[in-house]
Amino acid sequence: MKILVTGGLGFIGSHTVVELQNKGFEVVIIDNLSNSSEAVFKGIVAITGKQPIFEKLDLRGKASVQDFFKKHDDVSGVIHFAASKAVGESVTNPLLYYENNLSSLVYLLQELEKKEEANFIFSSSCTVYGQADVIPIAETAPIKPAMSPYGNTKQIGEEIIIDVAKVSAINAILLRYFNPIGAHDSAEIGELPIGVPQNLVPFITQTGIGLRKELLVYGNDYPTPDGTCIRDYIHVVDLAKAHVVALQRLLNKKNLDKVEIFNLGSGVGSSVLEVITSFEKVSGKPFPYKIVDRREGDVTKAYANTDKANGVLGWKTQLSLEEAMASAWKWEQKVKAK
Ligand code: NAD
Repeated sequence: MKILVTGGLGFIGSHTVVELQNKGFEVVIIDNLSNSSEAVFKGIVAITGKQPIFEKLDLRGKASVQDFFKKHDDVSGVIHFAASKAVGESVTNPLLYYENNLSSLVYLLQELEKKEEANFIFSSSCTVYGQADVIPIAETAPIKPAMSPYGNTKQIGEEIIIDVAKVSAINAILLRYFNPIGAHDSAEIGELPIGVPQNLVPFITQTGIGLRKELLVYGNDYPTPDGTCIRDYIHVVDLAKAHVVALQRLLNKKNLDKVEIFNLGSGVGSSVLEVITSFEKVSGKPFPYKIVDRREGDVTKAYANTDKANGVLGWKTQLSLEEAMASAWKWEQKVKAK
C-alpha cells in the first residue's frame, strides 16, 4: 500500500517513514526541503535499506498538488506533517504561517475529497489546550484561544478537517502531540533545528556539544515540586509508531467516527530541571544553566491523559525520558562529527 507522507524529510516525518517502511508500506514523500535536507533521505535508506519515493514539491502550489495526485492516484493514506512550526516566527510573520499551514492543507483535502475513500492523519498539537484547567489533559479538555498564529493554524486546521470529513469520504485522525524529543537509535536521523533551537532538548544537546554557552531556565518559582515548568516529553520513535497504528486503524476501518482525536504523550510530566538531570546522566558531565525570570506565555504544566490512545488506539509509549535524552545526545555528537 502506498502512503503519502508530507514533510517526510522533517523530524517527525522521517522517523515515521522509517516505521512505515519497517511495516512494509510503500512510502512517497513530499517535502520542499524548507526545513530539512536530502541527507535525511540517505539516513532513512541507511536504516531501512529501502528507498522511499521522493517528490520535491511545495504544497503551497495548488497545481503541483493536483499533478502529484494525477501521478500517484493509488495513494491509500496521507500523513500530513508538512507545516511551519516556529512559534516565535509565527508571531512576527503570521501570513507565512497561515499560508503554509492552511493552504497546503486545503489543497490536499481538495484532492482527497474527489476520492471514493480517503484516509488522512493530521499533525496537531497540545498547544490547542493552552493552560488546561485539568491536568493530565484529556482530549475532551476545552480548546483555549490560541497563543500564537502557529497555534491558531493547528486549531483552524482541525476545524477544516472536521468540516470536510462531514461532506466527503475522508476519514481522519487528528493527533495532538505533546513534546517530541530524541532521535533514531542508529543516529542516522534526528532533529535538525535551523538557527537557535526553540525547543528545550536540542538547546540542551547543542549546549552540551559546545555550540551554546548555557541554558536559561525561565523561572524556578512555579507551583511545581522543583519550581520549574513541567511538560510531557515523548520519544520521537514512540510518536512515529503511533502514526502507523493510527493509519492501520483507518485502513482497517476500525475508526468509530469520521474524525477521531488522540493525545500522543507519555502521560508523565517532567520538569526542566529533571530533563537537565537526565542529560547530565547520559552525557556524564555537569550541564551549564542559569535560572532567570519567568518568560511570558509559558504554561506552568502540561502533560497528557493518554487513556484514549492507550485503550482505543492500543498504543503506548515504550521509551523513557532517559532513552530519549541518550538518543538525542548520540545524534548531536554524530551531527558534530559530520
Ligand atoms: P519539521 O520542520 O522538522 O518537518 C516539517 C517538514 O515539512 C520539513 O521537512 C519541511 O521542509 C516540510 N515542509 C514545510 N512546508 C512545506 C511545504 N509547503 N511543502 C512541502 N514541504 C513542506 O517539523 P516536525 O517537528 O517534524 O513537525 C511535523 C509536524 O508536527 C508539523 O505539522 C508540526 O507543526 C507538528 N508538531 C510538531 C511538534 C514538535 O515539537 N516538533 C509538536 C506538535 C506538533
